[in-house]
Amino acid sequence: MASQLALITGASRGIGRGIAVELARIGFSVAINYAGRRDAALECKKLCEKAAPRGAESSFEIFQADISKTPDRARLLTEVRERFGWIDLLVNNAGVAPIVRVDLLKASEESFDRLMGINARGAFFLTQAVANFWIAGLKGREKASAKPKIVNISSISAFAPGPTRAEYCMSKAALSMMTQLFALRLAEYGIHVYEIRPGVIATDMTGPVRQKYERLISEGLAPIARWGTPEDVGRAVVAVAEDRFPFSTGEVINVDGGFHIRHF
Ligand code: NAP
Repeated sequence: MASQLALITGASRGIGRGIAVELARIGFSVAINYAGRRDAALECKKLCEKAAPRGAESSFEIFQADISKTPDRARLLTEVRERFGWIDLLVNNAGVAPIVRVDLLKASEESFDRLMGINARGAFFLTQAVANFWIAGLKGREKASAKPKIVNISSISAFAPGPTRAEYCMSKAALSMMTQLFALRLAEYGIHVYEIRPGVIATDMTGPVRQKYERLISEGLAPIARWGTPEDVGRAVVAVAEDRFPFSTGEVINVDGGFHIRHF
C-alpha cells in the first residue's frame, strides 16, 4: 500500500516534530511545515528518514509557510498537493505563546491578534481549505475508500484559565470549538476530527517557564508527576492515524498526565 501523507503544521520543532517522527515510524510520509526555522525543519526531515521502517515507500519534505497568512496557506496547500497529490491526515499543531506573559487587565491587542491569528484563525482557514480539497476529491473516486482525518493540537489551557496568558487560553478554546464544528460538518464525508490536549510538555515553548513548571510538577500539578514529551503526543496522533477510533469524532484526547481530573 502506498504511504499515507500527513501534513503537520509547525513540525520543525517540539511537539510537531515528535508527531512527525512517530508517524514516520509507522510508515507515513510527512509534509513538514515550518515558519522560519529551516534548519530545524531539515533536522526533523532527517529524523523522520531515520525513523521510517526499512523498505517503506515514505518520503519527507519541508514546506515554509506562515499559517497566519492567507497567501502562505494557499501556497502551502498547492505545494503539498503538487508534491504528494493527496493528504490523509492534517495536524493543526503550529502555535505560539505570548511573547511576554502579562495580566489580562494589561494584555495588548497586538498580542491578542498574533495569537488568535496563528493559533485559531490560521488553523481554521487551513482546515477549511483542506476540507474543501477533500470533499472535491472524494466524490465518486477511488479515494472514497480513504478516511481523511484532522487532529487539532489544543492545550489544557483550552479549559484551565491562566490570567497571565488570556489570549493563549482563548485561542485554544477556539480550537476546541473548531474541532466540534468541523466534526459535525465533515462526518457525512467520512472525515473525522479529533482534539489532542497536551499538558505540560518539554519544548522550546515551555523553556522560559521551565523552573516554574518544575516546581508545580513536584508539588502535584498532575497525578503523573513528570514532564510530557513530544513523543507522548506523537503516539496519540498515531492512534488516530491508525484509525483506532472509528466510531468517534469531535473527541478530546487528553495527553496531560491526568491534569484534567478534578479532585480535592
Ligand atoms: P515550539 O517548540 O515553540 O514549536 C512551535 C512550532 O510552531 C515550530 O515548528 C514553529 O516553526 C511553528 N510555528 C510557529 N508559528 C508558526 C506560524 N505562524 N506558521 C507556521 N508554523 C509556525 O512549540 P510546541 O511546544 O511544540 O507547541 C506546539 C503546539 O502544541 C502549539 O500549538 C502549542 O500551543 C501546543 N501546546 C504546547 C504545550 C507545551 O507544553 N509545550 C502544551 C499544550 C499545547 P519554526 O521552527 O519555523 O519557528
